[in-house]
Amino acid sequence: MKSIAIIGGGASGLFCAILLAQKGLKVTLFEQNTKVAKKILVSGNGRCNITNKNISKENYFSQNPDFVEFALKEFGFTSFEKFVNSIGLLLDVKEDGRAYPLSNEAKSVAKLFEEYAKNLGVNFHYNAHINSIKEFMKKYDAVIVATGSRAASHLGGNSDGEEFAKEFGHSIIPAYPSLVQLEIESKIVHKMAGAKVDGEATLFINHQKELTTKGDILFTNYGLSGFAILDISQTASKALLEFNHVSVALNLLPRLTQQQIASHINAMAKQIPTFTLLDILVGLLPLKIATNILEYLEISPHMHSDTINIKIAKKIANCISNWRFEIEDTHGFRHAEVSGGGIDTQEINPKTMESRKQKNLYFIGETLDIVGRRGGYNFAFAWASAFVCTKSVVSSND
Ligand SMILES: Cc1cc2nc3c(=O)[nH]c(=O)nc-3n(C[C@H](O)[C@H](O)[C@H](O)COP(=O)(O)OP(=O)(O)OC[C@H]3O[C@@H](n4cnc5c(N)ncnc54)[C@H](O)[C@@H]3O)c2cc1C
Repeated sequence: MKSIAIIGGGASGLFCAILLAQKGLKVTLFEQNTKVAKKILVSGNGRCNITNKNISKENYFSQNPDFVEFALKEFGFTSFEKFVNSIGLLLDVKEDGRAYPLSNEAKSVAKLFEEYAKNLGVNFHYNAHINSIKEFMKKYDAVIVATGSRAASHLGGNSDGEEFAKEFGHSIIPAYPSLVQLEIESKIVHKMAGAKVDGEATLFINHQKELTTKGDILFTNYGLSGFAILDISQTASKALLEFNHVSVALNLLPRLTQQQIASHINAMAKQIPTFTLLDILVGLLPLKIATNILEYLEISPHMHSDTINIKIAKKIANCISNWRFEIEDTHGFRHAEVSGGGIDTQEINPKTMESRKQKNLYFIGETLDIVGRRGGYNFAFAWASAFVCTKSVVSSND
């Protein structure tokens, strides 16, 4: 029986191990951590956004954007759902296409995948960090590198996949943190730490508008977090890597136009003469944000209604709808969910994930220069790349 080694017991490695063992191959999986699937366990805030019903190459960033197409077509949502159903894992598919385990717990996914692989006879080696693979390869008929990316180092994130690829002369696309918080050097931002709004973030690169995202915006003691920020971070992080000027404009109250906000402030001042300016603003925004907007604009929060005029109201409304900050940096790989860049996919066969430089050596999942948007797309590529790799390993070992 042919013997296959998988390095890395994350999403792609575990799935690959199951598929190969199902085909009767002898599979040994090496995981550096004491347990497998650490990123699955924390994914989707512990719920695991396991895939997306609307998978397409447009949801991925890469130097070679067409690379994902074959794998995603071969193993899309329907195939994945069929597989997970076959091991007893049912999915809850949301209206926007995001899929979660019906149990709503990432633990279910990690447990079922590991148990199922064990039942099939996959040989698990925990605490097994592989340092280099040239010699290692000689012991196996095929080696699959599923070591992930640098993102979230506390969960096992590293650049080992790139180092292994370099042993065989592969090129590397410079890595950058993705789906990550953004750092802003502004005392006023740091003072608002903990305050959150449902807003809009517009990214500017070299003063040109790039994209607008909607969702949570959370102020922190280093800058900004929240879904709207993570969603612009993928483009922002790459632009920072390339030394561009990057800034963000926040709309903290997108439900109202700037004109409506100004009119509201002005009207309230007339309606309740005993109110201060701060009293009026806390009807619109969290107290911390209201206080700091006034401090930023150098307007007294105690200003009384009778002194508030439309000019002041417009100034405040402009700040609420379009507060601009320069982005200094991302919050780094440790805090990133995923990493952009990685092994150059021009040197990998998209139909098999086999190295074009070394026969029987495969790279799958996040080791490659492929990164998906938020929404289950990163797991979707982990599953799809593992699937096409498995097909190739099985057929070349028949
Ligand atoms: C906080 C967080 C939340 C996320 N939420 C989602 C989500 O909801 N939906 C989604 O689609 N994606 C999500 N992701 C991204 C997703 O987890 C990854 O894209 C996915 O896990 C990549 O799978 P992988 O198999 O390539 O790598 P990983 O899952 O990272 O697995 C790599 C494994 O290889 C091991 N390893 C590394 N080097 C070695 C070595 N030399 N020897 C032995 N073992 C090694 C690591 O310890 C690790 O277990 C999230 C990530 C994080 C950090």
